[in-house]
Amino acid sequence: MTTAERVEQVRARIERAAARAGRDPRQIELIAVSKTHGLEQIDAVAAAGVRSFGENRIQEAVEKIARRPELRWHFIGRLQRNKARRAVEHFELIHSVDSLRLGQALDRIGCEMGREVEALVEVNLGGETSKAGVAPDQLEDLLRGLAGLEALRLRGLMTVPPRADDPQAVRPLFRALAEQQRRLRELGLPGVSLEHLSMGMSGDFEVAVEEGATMVRVGSALFGPRVGAPN
Ligand SMILES: *Cc1c(COP(=O)(O)O)cnc(C)c1O
Repeated sequence: MTTAERVEQVRARIERAAARAGRDPRQIELIAVSKTHGLEQIDAVAAAGVRSFGENRIQEAVEKIARRPELRWHFIGRLQRNKARRAVEHFELIHSVDSLRLGQALDRIGCEMGREVEALVEVNLGGETSKAGVAPDQLEDLLRGLAGLEALRLRGLMTVPPRADDPQAVRPLFRALAEQQRRLRELGLPGVSLEHLSMGMSGDFEVAVEEGATMVRVGSALFGPRVGAPN
């Protein structure tokens, strides 16, 4: 299958999942996760009409972003505070705020640069201790702690569920994230609009769309398998 065919197929699957849920597929941003893939592959996916790309390592991403600055770049990996400035400089949306200290650091950087910093809060719904993300029972406290900052704009929630062979197994987690979003939006915290849900990867993006995802992060279904890379 060509890259263009893979992109077309993923788009069609998103559209069918949206239709099943009575949703407008235009509300769903397809993020092509290009980590480990080179510029040629990125160019091929971009040529098929994809505008949003996701990377999980700053160093690896910076060169790609420099070559295709007109694309919309998302940071989806774990962010160390000493790399927060580079993330703000290069990425339009940071999906992985999971602590007060990181959120405050991003806010300070935004203030210094004189601009807003758009981010999502990553939630660890599966309870795996190895995974990034704030525990669900600490999510509200984190949002309250990061509300009302000058530059930080919390636009939504993101999750990476535990690996499962059956995509239906993660449906309850996606549903739980959507429920948290509904509940927390009602708090009306300043700077915490939470209109986005970033959930769903190659193995489960259709289930995520059915449960309300506004951003899906799709790697191997678009690019083919990543060779020799565990993540
Ligand atoms: C790698 C990665 C993806 C994409 O995974 P695929 O299974 O290849 O679609 C999505 N989200 C995050 C956070 C990732 O690290």
